[in-house]
This record gives sequence, structure tokens and C-alpha cells, in this order.
Amino acid sequence: MINFKELADEYKTPLYIYNLDYMTQQYEKLKEAFKGRKSMMAYAVKSNSNLSVIKHFSSLGSGADCVSIGEIRRAFLAGIPSYKIIFSGVGKSDDEIREAIEKDILYINVESEAELGRVELIAKELDTTCRISIRVNPNIDPQTHPYISTGLHDNKFGVEIDTAKRMYIKANNSQNLDPIGIHFHIGSQLTELKPIYESAEIVADLVRSLKTIKIDIKFFDIGGGLGVKYNKEITIELYDYAQAILSTLRGLDLTVVCEPGRFLTANAGYFITKVLYEKQNRKKRFVVVDGAMNDLLRPALYNAYHKIEAITDNTGDENKADIVGPVCESGDFFAKDYLLPNLEHNDLLVIHSAGAYGFGMGSNYNTRARSAEVAISDGMHRLIRKRETFDNLVALELEFLD
Ligand SMILES: *Cc1c(COP(=O)(O)O)cnc(C)c1O
Repeated sequence: MINFKELADEYKTPLYIYNLDYMTQQYEKLKEAFKGRKSMMAYAVKSNSNLSVIKHFSSLGSGADCVSIGEIRRAFLAGIPSYKIIFSGVGKSDDEIREAIEKDILYINVESEAELGRVELIAKELDTTCRISIRVNPNIDPQTHPYISTGLHDNKFGVEIDTAKRMYIKANNSQNLDPIGIHFHIGSQLTELKPIYESAEIVADLVRSLKTIKIDIKFFDIGGGLGVKYNKEITIELYDYAQAILSTLRGLDLTVVCEPGRFLTANAGYFITKVLYEKQNRKKRFVVVDGAMNDLLRPALYNAYHKIEAITDNTGDENKADIVGPVCESGDFFAKDYLLPNLEHNDLLVIHSAGAYGFGMGSNYNTRARSAEVAISDGMHRLIRKRETFDNLVALELEFLD
């Protein structure tokens, strides 16, 4: 049991708390599901990019899946070795590609023919060979929220199968490219196995077809996307997940690369916010809290559900309320019509499942300083990011007239 009250007293609110032991358990379970096969976990840094969190996964042996040079630098700072770092993303700049090649990471996940051309050119300028993987868009509907669906031809990610094949042939004929991997990632918060299996089958077929023309892929990168329980979702069993993937790899000797983000971090995290006011109008009850959409955007962005727990001495009846923050947007809410007891000034609300896409999606909108972050493990707690100050917020601004 985490003593949220004590942590809120010590570190103030709003506050993020991450349970590192939970992250360990999730990591070990997923790794275990692929045992007996060569596999590598590459933690999706964007889900929670605090250095202490990345370091924690590094200590478990994880690699890193990064979507910007900033994330790659974080991965290095956290001690992840270059040969376990992957660079994904649909719009890498020349500078990012150059630095990734210089840092000699495991491979770059290439997402278009044009990008393949840039990578080749930059590798040539550097007089080296760049290991690449190609992100295939299998055109499979992952049946998740449209904002986090990535594997349909409507989505900007990856390339179609025939384009991929052409790109592999080009890469294989280039002095400066070494095609060693294949990649797909069809979306996030996936709770259906079938689309994952179907995508893997399509991609594995491409690997087999490449093999017949002497292009040997070594890394089968299945992306991330495993869904977690926010509310009543029925999630995919890890054993079934691994078996479905492995069943598509008949006759292939590949290292399976998995890029889990949310699965490792979402339910390890809590966002704690303090009640400022109760407010009732003719129609609705509002609970106004000190945290806001600039701290945790998911409800505003995806209408996402987060379980919310009240820490209060009040024990009376629960009534529906909208839980809203101080930001000047009607989208600034954590929940609507959520059952809560009457709350007093300074009572706490604990917003669950906030470890993934929480702090990292935060902003300084309304000139609000970002929250502090605290890690807990084995009954101990420690500050892993200081609360921002007003001075931090204005530090980079320059005067137009002086
Ligand atoms: C975002 C992302 C992930 C992680 O997704 P989760 O849903 O958090 O597991 C993995 N791979 C790629 C390429 C991504 O863009």
C-alpha cells in the first residue's frame, strides 16, 4: 500500500508517483513470455522518459525505442548501450539521422522511401554503413482509439508491403545501408490479439519472400502497443501474445524485438492532486483540483478513463461530479460524472494508471509549472524530478526591446 497522503505532504501537489517494483514485474513477465527465443526488449522511452525510469529499465537489461534524438540522448545518459537503441518515427531530421549514425545505434526504423534516401546519403557522407529496419504498414485495423491507431493506410506511419520490398532491394544494393530488421507497430492500447497476429503474419511473409532473394533479416521488431487495464478492459494474455507472434515465424531464425511502453509504465504511475473547491450549479457538481490538463492530458485528448480514488475523512453518500482543473479550457477535466463523496479543501484525489503518457505529454500552458516526480521502490521514496519554478518557465525568453 502506498501512503499517498504522506507523499503529498512531503512533496506537495500536484505530484507524479511511479512504482519501480511494478515496472520490474511487468518487464519480467513480458520477457518471460518470449523465453526460449532470442528476444530483446526495447523500452518505448516516450511513455515515460524520466531518466530514473529509463535507468531502471536499463538495469533490468532493457534496450530503448526512441522517437527523437532527445530520447536517444536520454537513453545514453541512462546507460543503455548503443547496440540496444532503436530510432523510430516518421519525421527524422538530417541532424537526428547523422547523430544516430555517429552514435552507432542498433538500427534506424525507416518509414519512407524518401527517408531511406536521406539515411543513405548521410551514411555516405560519414563514410559508413547504417543498419536499418523498415517499418511496414500492414493495413490492419487495430480496433483502438483512432488517435492511437497507426497500422492503417489512413495513418502516416510506415510503408506498404510492395514499397517495403523495393526499399529492401535498394538498401541491400547500397554500400551505405545494411537492412537487418523489419518493423511494425499498428497502434497503442491494443486489446485484440487478432490484428497483431494478422500483421505479424503479413510481415513474416515478407521476411520469407526477402529470404528467397538473399536478403536476410535478423530482427523481427513487433513494436509495442500492448493494452493495459484502465477500467474494465479485457487485455491480451502475454502467453497468447508471444505464441501468436512466434507462430508466424515458421522456418525463420530471428531475434524478436518488442517495444513496450504503456504496458510497463501505465499502471505503475499515480497522479496526486489536491481538492481546491467544491462547486455546484443548477445542473452539475464540480470538484476543482490543483492539477490540470497541462499535467495529465489523456482525458482531454482521448477522453481517456482513469480510475480516481478520493482520500478524505468524509464517508457519506457518493454523488456524481466532474473533476476539473484550473486551466482555462472546457477540455480541462480528469473525469465526468464520477462518483465521489463530498470533499473538503485539501482532500486528495489519486488518479490511477498515470505512469504512461502522463508527465511526458505535459506542458506549461497557462504558465503552470510542471509537477514533481517521485519514484518508490521497496518501501522507499525519492524525488526524481524537481517541481518546476516560475524562473524555469521564463528562463529562455528574451526581450524584444531593451
Ligand atoms: C509509441 C510507440 C511504442 C510504444 O507504444 P505503447 O503503446 O506505449 O506500448 C512502440 N513503438 C513505436 C514505434 C511507437 O511509436
